[in-house]
Amino acid sequence: GAARRAFDETGWATDPALRARCLRQLRDALRDEGEQLRALTTAEVGAPAFLTAGPQFDIPVEDLGFYAELAEHYDGWKVDLGEKVSVGIPTHRQVWREPAGVVGAITPWNFPHQINFAKVGPALAAGCTVVLKAAPDTPWCASAVARIAAERTDLPAGVLNVVTSSDHALGAQLSGDPRVDLVSFTGSTNTGRAVMRSAADNITRVFLELGGKSAFVILDDAAIAAAASMAGFMASTHAGQGCAITTRLLVPEDHLDEVVEAAAATMAALAAGDPTDPGTVCGPVISSRQRDRIEGYLQSAIDEGGSFAVGGGRSPKFDRGYYIDPTLVVGLDNSATVAREEVFGPVLTVLTHGGDDDAVRIANDSPFGLSGAIFSSDEDRALSVASRIRTGTLGINGGVWYSADVPFGGYKQSGIGREMGVAGFEEYLETKSIAIAR
Ligand code: NAD
Repeated sequence: GAARRAFDETGWATDPALRARCLRQLRDALRDEGEQLRALTTAEVGAPAFLTAGPQFDIPVEDLGFYAELAEHYDGWKVDLGEKVSVGIPTHRQVWREPAGVVGAITPWNFPHQINFAKVGPALAAGCTVVLKAAPDTPWCASAVARIAAERTDLPAGVLNVVTSSDHALGAQLSGDPRVDLVSFTGSTNTGRAVMRSAADNITRVFLELGGKSAFVILDDAAIAAAASMAGFMASTHAGQGCAITTRLLVPEDHLDEVVEAAAATMAALAAGDPTDPGTVCGPVISSRQRDRIEGYLQSAIDEGGSFAVGGGRSPKFDRGYYIDPTLVVGLDNSATVAREEVFGPVLTVLTHGGDDDAVRIANDSPFGLSGAIFSSDEDRALSVASRIRTGTLGINGGVWYSADVPFGGYKQSGIGREMGVAGFEEYLETKSIAIAR
């Protein structure tokens, strides 16, 4: 109700200068309290400290400035299409973009600040008002931002609302509420389906960022060991709890042993550790439920004939907390459960391919299409493979697509729409066409 009133009855939607100022105030206040908020993120999420200096906190905070710039300088608010005689009437046409209205933003626990700000930033910049529903596992990160927004910015009452609950039903309530104009959701594909269903009653627009099972493709002309080592690092980071992490390692048949050796050595060196230690890459997983789920997938790998080149379960170093050691699964093909479903743990499955066409086929043999990586010493060859993989982002030879100005999102069951970049801002706009008779 507060968000609806703020949208319908205040000048927020028509005051881009105020919106830019509030976003910069929020960014500056978050910077000021950065030390406490980074520590809070590590404590609540288990995010390794080094990531809080990057995508777990510092980068998304700075990205609020990108959205402030868009509020001020977006050049698509009014597009003049000029005059045309349409059905006999000379007409001057314009296309206006307007804020979509009240946004219900529903987010997961794995990168709370990144995902909260990638929704709140462009939504506020666009002139929407927001109800942000944080994940039950990470209420503190969102609540801290709410406090700072209330205390240290000029955001008018009702523009940004943060709600937390341990009950998932709150998300369903938000996505089914007729006062919400757009549901912006990030989470698992199954929950995404539920969000679409509840939004269907009111034909509420949905924007979905869902799961992934992305391929890390090594071609036979790549620097094989270095690429394999990077794949091991990626899969271990934040205990594999990232939707865009590459969790299927596709390697040329002839180089299997070399790849396994290099990836396993890297993953062994990244054994689970205390997330407050600045050297830790693989911290704990979020909960006992998540740990049990990962162990279920590891058991399925064994049951289906696979084995572990390194890792395979709980870390022996800890008697408290939910620590799984980075695990390299070998001996399976792409039909195995662990190669098809999202594990959301530090688990990398090695699969062999018989050349570029076969690598493309296996990469595409997935219900998901969120991200991916290709390694080759021939950039044109890598780009040719990239053009054939149906996925939303691809890094070539370690290139990084993660940036405020780069759209991110999924093909297939990985989602609908794009977050970040100008495309991610435009998700929060409506289109109005105006025709003036001359
Ligand atoms: P989840 O789907 O269980 O929950 C996500 C959010 O949805 C939570 O806030 C939850 O309370 C809420 N929710 C649960 N049931 C709901 C319902 N019926 N209606 C509306 N909301 C509901 O996901 P999670 O376990 O918190 O996060 C892990 C998942 O998120 C993984 O599948 C991961 O791939 C995905 N993810 C995707 C991206 C992306 O950008 N594509 C980014 C991060 C995480």
